[in-house]
Amino acid sequence: MKVLIIEDDQAIVEAISLALQLSWPEAKLVSTHLGERGIDLVEKENPDVVILDLGLPDISGFEVLKQVRLFSTVPILILTVRSDEVDIVKGLEWGADDYVVKPFRQMELLSRIKLVTRRRVPLVEEAPLVCGKLRFDPGTWQLFYGEKEISLTPTEGTIISHLMKNAGRVVTHSSLAEALWGVDYPDAADTLRVHIRRLRTKLEVDPSHPQIILTKAGIGYLLAQPD
Ligand code: CA
Repeated sequence: MKVLIIEDDQAIVEAISLALQLSWPEAKLVSTHLGERGIDLVEKENPDVVILDLGLPDISGFEVLKQVRLFSTVPILILTVRSDEVDIVKGLEWGADDYVVKPFRQMELLSRIKLVTRRRVPLVEEAPLVCGKLRFDPGTWQLFYGEKEISLTPTEGTIISHLMKNAGRVVTHSSLAEALWGVDYPDAADTLRVHIRRLRTKLEVDPSHPQIILTKAGIGYLLAQPD
């Protein structure tokens, strides 16, 4: 397991390094405070996961994302600050797999790293999930809506399969958080909202008036039962 951290705040680099040493002493850590150097390191070091700060001194984290995605599918976790929801959505659109808001708890960061690096091991015995026009194949991790194939991040795949398994029933924020990260934590609902919004832009005709993934305010989400 090799982790590349592209972050100019040394205190954050040290916090991540400490968290990794405690949980995965065998993990190798490579870090840089520069975006350009980070892109080179993705190529040279071939890391298993990249933790990328969006605000870097030379080029923006978005530029790093864009360039890395030209040659690599490495899981990328972006680091951002609370006020930047627009940045989070943009980061996910530009190819990040998930994000963590600073300041973060150690356990939260570790569970995100685990999720994005989880190998998509085909589970041959697991039958495809079907719900109306939606079909999700846990063996290949493909989602179809009618004939259209929709590409998903690991986070989105986990969310949609959990909702499909419970179609027609309300899935609470904490149940979704546990399915995703193994733990529920205080800001999970905010994080889920961003991923759900993004899933809707991929699935819904009008994402602002969703017909497939419905919100139960203050409780969770519900995948509409097809007619
Ligand atoms: Ca920064």
